[in-house]
Amino acid sequence: MELVRAENLSIKYPNSDETVIKDTNFTIADNEIFVLVGPSGCGKSTILQALAGFIQADGLLTMNNETITGPDWRRGVVFQNSSLYPWFTVKENVGFGLKARKFSSVEIDQRVKYLLDLIGLSNQNNMKTFELSGGMRQRVAIARVLANKSPLLLMDEPFGALDAFTRAKMQKLILDIWQQEKTSIFMITHDLNEAIRCGNKIAIMNAHDKKITKIQDNPFQNI
Ligand code: ADP
Ligand code: ADP
Repeated sequence: MELVRAENLSIKYPNSDETVIKDTNFTIADNEIFVLVGPSGCGKSTILQALAGFIQADGLLTMNNETITGPDWRRGVVFQNSSLYPWFTVKENVGFGLKARKFSSVEIDQRVKYLLDLIGLSNQNNMKTFELSGGMRQRVAIARVLANKSPLLLMDEPFGALDAFTRAKMQKLILDIWQQEKTSIFMITHDLNEAIRCGNKIAIMNAHDKKITKIQDNPFQNI
């Protein structure tokens, strides 16, 4: 089944006349890891920001046949350096959004416990996030976004600031999460190895065309 559809998607930032994305088309299926690769500045983050509802795009952009509309839509994103609340514990950071959305404390506790187990940080649940390593902080950032149960997990260079060893562990974690949660994932990277390790579909952009020029099944996929 299809989750996301973009048709003739064009994007300009409000403060500029430049068309950053021009007439791009793509779809993302249910339970698919869609990895977008391309050089810096080609427009990858701009597409992700439209998917997250941070910026408005022209053309068609839908998730489960609903138009992604901007402010009312907003979804969480895992960034390269996701800002957590440093004075909050791991548990509080993951549960924060649920608390704001008025879930009961029992529901929050259950969901947070499940997520900490999923990301492998159950033992660190009461640590403050400033005490964590970079890899652990990105785990918390992932759990915080997963807490909202969006059908699409959005990640923008999530492991770009990590060393190669930690990065490899995080790529494995993403595949584990994907198998367990049955979520779709939209992930940006400029690391082709990462795309090959994590993607079902690999989409390619370049700065000249301002659009996704190729989408193909990952020929190296071996999960
Ligand atoms: P990538 O994620 O591939 O590095 P971006 O989507 O961040 O690329 O940027 C694409 C283009 O959009 C660049 O030319 C950049 O300068 C421009 N851009 C990004 N953010 C803004 C903004 N907030 N306002 C105006 N232009 C922007
Ligand atoms: P990750 O386990 O998320 O891949 P790292 O590879 O950076 O993170 O850290 C390796 C291990 O070192 C962690 O799993 C954790 O057990 C430990 N560690 C790192 N930083 C700290 C810290 N500030 N306090 C306690 N243990 C830590």
